[in-house]
Amino acid sequence: MSSTGSHRAPTLAVIGGGQLARMMAQPAIALGLPLRLLAEAEGVSAAQVIPDQLVGDHTDLDTLRAVTAGTSVVTFDHEHVPIAHLHALVADGIAVRPGPDALVHAQDKAVMRRRLAELDVPCPRNAVVTTAADVEEFGLPCVLKTTRGGYDGKGVWVVRAIDEAQAAFDAAAAAGVEVLAEELVDFRRELSALVARSPSGQAAAYPVVASTQLDGICHEVVAPAPDLAPALAGEAQEIALRIAGALDVTGILAVELFETADGRILVNELAMRPHNTGHWSQDGAVTSQFENHLRAVMDLPLGSPAPRERWTVMVNILGGPTDTGRLYDGLPHAMARDPRLRVHFYGKDLRPGRKVGHVNAYGDDLEDCLERARHAAAWFRGDLGNVSA
Ligand code: ADP
Repeated sequence: MSSTGSHRAPTLAVIGGGQLARMMAQPAIALGLPLRLLAEAEGVSAAQVIPDQLVGDHTDLDTLRAVTAGTSVVTFDHEHVPIAHLHALVADGIAVRPGPDALVHAQDKAVMRRRLAELDVPCPRNAVVTTAADVEEFGLPCVLKTTRGGYDGKGVWVVRAIDEAQAAFDAAAAAGVEVLAEELVDFRRELSALVARSPSGQAAAYPVVASTQLDGICHEVVAPAPDLAPALAGEAQEIALRIAGALDVTGILAVELFETADGRILVNELAMRPHNTGHWSQDGAVTSQFENHLRAVMDLPLGSPAPRERWTVMVNILGGPTDTGRLYDGLPHAMARDPRLRVHFYGKDLRPGRKVGHVNAYGDDLEDCLERARHAAAWFRGDLGNVSA
């Protein structure tokens, strides 16, 4: 009898060379899992750390076939691969995780809203609108969103007077997409519920976190969300698990939520990949979201999402408006000041508003964690004096 067992791991293809793919590489090393990358350009964030790579266009099917040739599973750094191409890869016999029928809900906000309504998931009141008259009928103030292609607050307009609606219609027309109107939610704060789910149906729910956005960009995350009523936390996790199951999501699902001033939660949007609101888990949870994403898409048993510490605070490092930031040069001060601080750089050049890294601070005292993480991020951003100071 010959053994058919193998000590060699299959190769996982990853589409997109951003920081999320880069951070998947760390647990892939530990798990002995080879990654093959499709990068949009040479030298991008993940291309610096994943040697088996192809540079090409993720909207080109031949390129997608080239990068997945010889692999059995493909996953994503972003959600922008055309759904038709993903169906073609499935027909080729590649396991696409998350699959196209799930991923479409992270690509198209109108499709997502319709499906969540069918699932009785609480959402802001919403409707697809095609004219200013539709917007008036929907009611002001409201939020207009392009149904596809938005990110980090781009493609989102708060409309208080009807003449402000035109910008959304112009952007949608230019991109060939629709406009979704939503009620302007009076939220107390934004929450995020992250779950990992495998093709076998195993799921793991991370503690619900609170995130702070500025200009539509995530700046700060506190895990777990302070003073969140246990019933609301449970409801948020239950919603995320229900969506992951109903949509057959594989990998990480992040459900962005609003906690309303009157104590309800509403779903804002879905992401089907590791998410900025899960970066705290790299240092603050038993198993990081990146490792659980890999475990899930490879259909391995999931790791514990339990926190290691009472609190973890994540603060993003963004390029400031002026060129005063420092990354590597900032390490001596940051490390000497706080030996427990965890620093994650993405290998990106500083540009205004660009996410170039984040820090995690964990411990028993929330105020202390906030101070340490905020100080370090501000230091790297260059908000605390110049390098020689
Ligand atoms: P993106 O695709 O850019 O992430 P989102 O739909 O998450 O867009 O919106 C970006 C930000 O705009 C949210 O984080 C939130 O602060 C605000 N926002 C979005 N929808 C609403 C809404 N219906 N009511 C109030 N604020 C909203």
